[in-house]
Amino acid sequence: MTTAGLLRDLRSIVGPRGLVDDPTWLVPYESDGLAMQRGRPLCAVLPRDTAQAAAVMARLARAGVPVVSRGAGTGLSGGATPVEGGALVGTARMRDVLSVDPVDRLARVQAGVVNVELTAACAAHGLFYAPDPSSQQACTIGGNVAENSGGPHCFKYGATTRHVEGLVIVTADGEVLDLTGAPVDPDGLDLVGLFVGSEGLLGLATEVVVRLTPLPEAVETLLAVFPDLDGACDSVSEIIAQRLEPSALEILDRLTIEAVEDSVFAAGYPREAEAVLLIEADGGDAEVAEVVARIRAIVERQGALEVRSARGADERKLLWAGRKGAFGAMGRVAPDLYVADVVVPRTKLREIVARTTEICREQRLKLANVFHAGDGNLHPNICYDRRDEDEVARVLAAGHAIMQMCVAAGGSLTGEHGVGLEKLPEMELAFAPADLRAMCDARDAWDPHRRLNPGKLLPVRACRERRAAGAPPASSAGAPFGSGEHGSSAGEPPR
Ligand SMILES: Cc1cc2nc3c(=O)[nH]c(=O)nc-3n(C[C@H](O)[C@H](O)[C@H](O)COP(=O)(O)OP(=O)(O)OC[C@H]3O[C@@H](n4cnc5c(N)ncnc54)[C@H](O)[C@@H]3O)c2cc1C
Repeated sequence: MTTAGLLRDLRSIVGPRGLVDDPTWLVPYESDGLAMQRGRPLCAVLPRDTAQAAAVMARLARAGVPVVSRGAGTGLSGGATPVEGGALVGTARMRDVLSVDPVDRLARVQAGVVNVELTAACAAHGLFYAPDPSSQQACTIGGNVAENSGGPHCFKYGATTRHVEGLVIVTADGEVLDLTGAPVDPDGLDLVGLFVGSEGLLGLATEVVVRLTPLPEAVETLLAVFPDLDGACDSVSEIIAQRLEPSALEILDRLTIEAVEDSVFAAGYPREAEAVLLIEADGGDAEVAEVVARIRAIVERQGALEVRSARGADERKLLWAGRKGAFGAMGRVAPDLYVADVVVPRTKLREIVARTTEICREQRLKLANVFHAGDGNLHPNICYDRRDEDEVARVLAAGHAIMQMCVAAGGSLTGEHGVGLEKLPEMELAFAPADLRAMCDARDAWDPHRRLNPGKLLPVRACRERRAAGAPPASSAGAPFGSGEHGSSAGEPPR
């Protein structure tokens, strides 16, 4: 069967509007938020539901074509970067909230539902969906599941994995697994737990059952203004050490504040500040009052020049719009932004932030910091221009140096953006060979031909060694990548 025949079959499954194969219309699909990594897909296929997705995946399996799942493409680690000549299977037309059950506090949604639309759909019941990535106006629940996404309020509420109760998954060869019926503590292996955070390597999620959270009785938002970053970092370390549990602790530095204030996200952050700490507490009235009073005392002791309290919902919304719009606002500083995503012990925030600044200074790069400080999840943001090859090389060198430093400090490679392509070189630093082998085995059990998101998350070398050491061969369920109608001749797809 020719490529034209494959495209014809796919079009007959999803209809003419569900297949994009015109090279001009494919340009937006060439990268995700890690714009320095690009690939040209053969096509983007946009099924409407699980049945169409299963038929598409089965047809692509027969053709031996590599598949990259795609939500909104807001990922920052290259997870949705296409494989040259492979297919993208996107969830952009799977946007229905299928049901909201306010009694059991559950919702069932198609994977392409945008994060913020889910909270809007359950607000009338006094419920919300807690994981709130700053990209929540665009990113999808399926993408959140694949990345185990976090967000400012995940400090208190936990990342996506704590809020997923069930999944419908289409496997590499087009089989449908319905993992939605399980009770709270299901028998058997926790396949939902395994799938969350698997970055598109184990299958395409088509439906997600999520847990909803009651809206809190009281919310208070503070903005603490600092003359330096150290005071903001040390405040966070002390808040954690005192076992206080606000719902969010976010730091923005001076360059970020300036970019935000110059943009449509202007939030009234003071331009003269070297850093601001955005603090939110929620819960019962008395609990919030106590947490806020104790945090005020800490930030004042750590040198805050001023502590503002949001007067009402509008001002709170404004303060958060500035924080959540911060990455976008960085477009005022440079055309491209590399968003690193590392985690460090929260006692080391000050020293790691200082060392990050030095690394970027050594590489002659412009650094801005905005991060989920409560989780120790740093986002050193490096402003650059991807047309400048030398600058791109320096950005990558700085990124790798930052990751290596954080791992050496007892931290981890990613807090929420995933490994994707970006962090592959560091995986062997962060994990022992036996850990990587176990991950390769899990991937091979779900996708023996390694056609799903090949060359991402797991270092190719570790998986090759695993296979060479006698890991199970590809089963008969479909053609191996490379020997199908459209594959290359390599066993592991090229990167
Ligand atoms: C401005 C901005 C702010 C951000 N803030 C945050 C933040 O606060 N917290 C955070 O965690 N992230 C954040 N991100 C990163 C990103 O938004 C998240 O990783 C998000 O979950 C990606 O969702 P998406 O729908 O865009 O997925 P995509 O980028 O399309 O895909 C991401 C990965 O998931 C896989 N995938 C997508 N859909 C599916 C599916 N249905 N089944 C299986 N695999 C799938 C893809 O193959 C890819 O590996 C931010 C990004 C931007 C641009």
